[in-house]
Amino acid sequence: TRSVMWFRRDLRTVDQPALAAAARTGQVVPLFVLDPALLGSAGTVRRDRLLASLRALDAACSGALVVRTGDPVAVVPALAAELGAAAVHVTGEPSPYGRRRDAKVREALHAKHIDWAVTGTPYAVGPGRVTKADGTPYRVFTPFSRAWRDHGWHSPARDVRVRWARGVDTEPLPGDGPTAASPGSPDERVGYPAGQAAARQRWQQFRDDALAGYDTGRDRPDLDGTSRMSVYLKFGEVHPRTLLADLVRPGRSMSAAEQRYVTELCWREFYADVLWHQPGSAWADLHPIAMDYAEPDYAEPDADFDRWQAGRTGFPMVDAGMRQLAAQGWMHNRLRMITASFLVKHLHVWWPHGARHFLNLLADGDIASNNHGWQWVAGTGTDAAPYFRIFNPVTQGKRFDPSGDYVRRWIPELAHLAGAAAHEPWKHPDGYSGGYPERMLDLAEQRQEALRRYQNR
Ligand code: FAD
Repeated sequence: TRSVMWFRRDLRTVDQPALAAAARTGQVVPLFVLDPALLGSAGTVRRDRLLASLRALDAACSGALVVRTGDPVAVVPALAAELGAAAVHVTGEPSPYGRRRDAKVREALHAKHIDWAVTGTPYAVGPGRVTKADGTPYRVFTPFSRAWRDHGWHSPARDVRVRWARGVDTEPLPGDGPTAASPGSPDERVGYPAGQAAARQRWQQFRDDALAGYDTGRDRPDLDGTSRMSVYLKFGEVHPRTLLADLVRPGRSMSAAEQRYVTELCWREFYADVLWHQPGSAWADLHPIAMDYAEPDYAEPDADFDRWQAGRTGFPMVDAGMRQLAAQGWMHNRLRMITASFLVKHLHVWWPHGARHFLNLLADGDIASNNHGWQWVAGTGTDAAPYFRIFNPVTQGKRFDPSGDYVRRWIPELAHLAGAAAHEPWKHPDGYSGGYPERMLDLAEQRQEALRRYQNR
């Protein structure tokens, strides 16, 4: 018998329980569906990164990957029927869009008497599984993280031998062929190459070189202090349980840095859990407060928003982050917080506008982590930062990029300002000689305005 393994956010063949389940039943047709509904909103960096991941997956499937374009609700059942497949195997997808889509695919398959087999999720602990004793979901991170650890997770799945079905028609991936951009280019933009082997390699490198200093290094955008695993996790080129297996083992005690890393992975799981229980939290305030937004703030943003997007606010830390986002499809966590805070608290723009921009551009763009990260900054989410805590981008810059290296890397107009001077061009007589824009607003004034809006709610 034959079955279809429909890959989605699990683009790997190792530690892959859904694939193992498919392989046990006979030949496997590995399938990926390019869904215009998802690709339509993806910026070029994320799109290119996906295509690079698919090429790597194809190689891991010995060149047998089948690609189709279209609405999966139509494409998957039609292909499975055409191939005479007994079942379609998937990794469970807990996001709101994925759940709706999968329910429809399952129904269409059942109508054709084809099985729908779900094994695992992209998380160590499936969203919805960790609950309080009374069965209700956790709303705050720390108790969730304790319960999450107590719940525990499976060890990595053993590798299985897969017999790939051959000769199934496939579409070329967009960009394949003689006109394709130079092979390394999308990878260089996100920093590290695509695919499960590269994910493993980067993890080992981080674990051996940087993990020991992670608890302090993770806050420094000028250093390579974080794992850069987010893109690999986003596409499922690595499963979190593979990483956790290296750190959390019975009888092994973890360093503070390792514990911190496990906690960060848990944030990813927590936000997925929140979204599972409250799908509406993707685009609506989880705890409606907060800001007394003027009507136009809810509407399409204006020219100020464009300056923020373009990295031309006149605040070096904000602009460096926004330019890194546009160029690499990735931003350091500290910069995500600073740039998001600037939009919400200094420009008074409603957070979903910023969240959508991030989601389109980030190679690791993930609706749960991104949108709840934005809600956290805006003060509407779980564990919300107190509303009066408003990031000052200049103080943040001097503290977390003390040498100014990060800012100069992304803003060539500041190259002539040495050290921390790059954070305050207005203090130097030739600060603007490189053509850097002047500050678009007064931080203290807009801070007061943010506080006023909170109090008026
Ligand atoms: P590391 O510091 O090495 O962390 C390891 C892993 O832990 C990350 O890969 C990620 O999976 C997880 N993690 C770390 N911090 C967080 C966090 N605060 N929330 C959830 N998971 C976390 N992360 C995304 O994966 N996708 C997003 O779209 C995204 N959008 C964000 C938007 C905002 C406004 C904010 C404040 C944070 C966002 N994050 C997002 C979380 C975090 O910034 C990134 O996960 C992190 O910067 C990725 O780099 P890294 O892999 O080197 O992180």
